[in-house]
Amino acid sequence: DGITLERVREYVWEIPQEGDMRAPARVLASESLLEVIKEDKSLEQIKNTTHLPGITNYAICMPDGHQGYGFPVGGVGAMDAENGCISPGSVGYDINCGVRMMRTNLTYSDLEGKEEELVDSLFTNIPSGLGGGGIVEAGVDTVDEILARGVDWALEHGHAVESDLLHCEDEGMREGADPDKVSQKAKDRGKNQIGSLGSGNHFLEVQRVTDVFDEEVGEAFGLEEDRIVVLIHCGSRGLGHQTCNDYLRKIEQQHQGLLNQLPDKELAAAPAGSQLAEDYYGAMNAAINFAWVNRQLIMHRTREVFERVFDRPWEAMEMELLYDVAHNIAKKETHDVDGETRELYVHRKGATRAFPAGHPEVPKAYRDVGQPVIIPGSMGAGSYVLRGGEHSMDLTFGSTAHGAGRLMSRTQAKNEYWGGDVQDELEEQDRIYVKAQSGATIAEEAPGVYKDVDEVVRVSDALGIGDKVARTFPVCNIKG
Ligand code: 5GP
Ligand code: MN
Ligand code: MN
Repeated sequence: DGITLERVREYVWEIPQEGDMRAPARVLASESLLEVIKEDKSLEQIKNTTHLPGITNYAICMPDGHQGYGFPVGGVGAMDAENGCISPGSVGYDINCGVRMMRTNLTYSDLEGKEEELVDSLFTNIPSGLGGGGIVEAGVDTVDEILARGVDWALEHGHAVESDLLHCEDEGMREGADPDKVSQKAKDRGKNQIGSLGSGNHFLEVQRVTDVFDEEVGEAFGLEEDRIVVLIHCGSRGLGHQTCNDYLRKIEQQHQGLLNQLPDKELAAAPAGSQLAEDYYGAMNAAINFAWVNRQLIMHRTREVFERVFDRPWEAMEMELLYDVAHNIAKKETHDVDGETRELYVHRKGATRAFPAGHPEVPKAYRDVGQPVIIPGSMGAGSYVLRGGEHSMDLTFGSTAHGAGRLMSRTQAKNEYWGGDVQDELEEQDRIYVKAQSGATIAEEAPGVYKDVDEVVRVSDALGIGDKVARTFPVCNIKG
């Protein structure tokens, strides 16, 4: 309430600059999504982010936006890398939470009748939930190597093949990662979680492709109707969480001045060029590598599970990584701002990079069609594959949405749903087989707690920031 919102054009709304705001804020949404966005603190939060030093053009709330820690989930903020800042809360606690999709040459009929065997085997073989260990149990030395080298470490140790690296942003190794800037406590939390889903919103879902909207791009992505794909959603586990915490604390100690200027302490930021900004960037990049290895290990283990269930080598099932997208990161990127080339810390929190065709950072395999973008919906709805749209660089610093976005809090969800009922209904009505460590998780993640993913993707497509390529539907799902 009390927030002015002006319509710029279809699907584009603006909170004009006033008071201590350093830029306007923009909300990208249809009228129906905007109604939902208005119901929580998203608008207030996106407005608050415009107080961060060096914020460029405008802060952006995506169509899936909802309230988060300080910075809304579904938010993008590009801060000048020389005179601006970097903000851990604007990256999120789960550093490099993200999704990757693996394609296969199996069809839905290859899998029918085996759903339960598959879901049980995945659940048994892929660590999930709180505790429970990881695929690799290691010491802190190994953690250090993973932090520095990312998926290259997994390749050396037989958990990856060369093409996995080529189909990941930065080839699975973020430059500027500095393991020394990650605390001992964070490494200790990470060492038993290498290759684990974690709990709550994280999942592994086997899906079938129901629609291919763009044949040419679909072909470039290796997607065909009726094919089976696997979607993996998780992040950097306790290691990332601890890293975020550590740096929020350090900012409080070292940069009170800036902190006091901000309307919300949760937006705590380190000034660009400060030692702490450099340290956080090095630590965050290291945590990004850890998350990539995490998703890689889970994907490779999934190949082994499929080998047993379908009794043939994974290579014969063409189980290749389509792409891996991060949706909680900050990255130093070069963008064109009013005809000037600028270095910016682009914060994408619950937002996905969506670089268009021709961009040099899109992997070679996809450079002619644009970067694959993966947008999960829910365990009872579709998910989407998009490609970076031609307007993304102009409108959103090369970004789009990351999911359907939550409609209600976890507490509200638990009052609304009963896990067992949700599970039964999914199986009986839609033949979706879900297995989770706890019934509460299923209730908290029930399809009804999420917004309409079709509508989110429609807006992305209409704005030309991420274009629809294909839609999938769940077959089985494991959760923490
Ligand atoms: P977040 O990273 O913000 O927790 O969630 C990313 C998105 O994943 C959510 O906005 C939601 O749309 C989607 N999602 C959550 N649970 C599931 C699931 O079990 N299956 C699929 N396909 N999507 C999900
Ligand atoms: Mn996460
Ligand atoms: Mn996530």
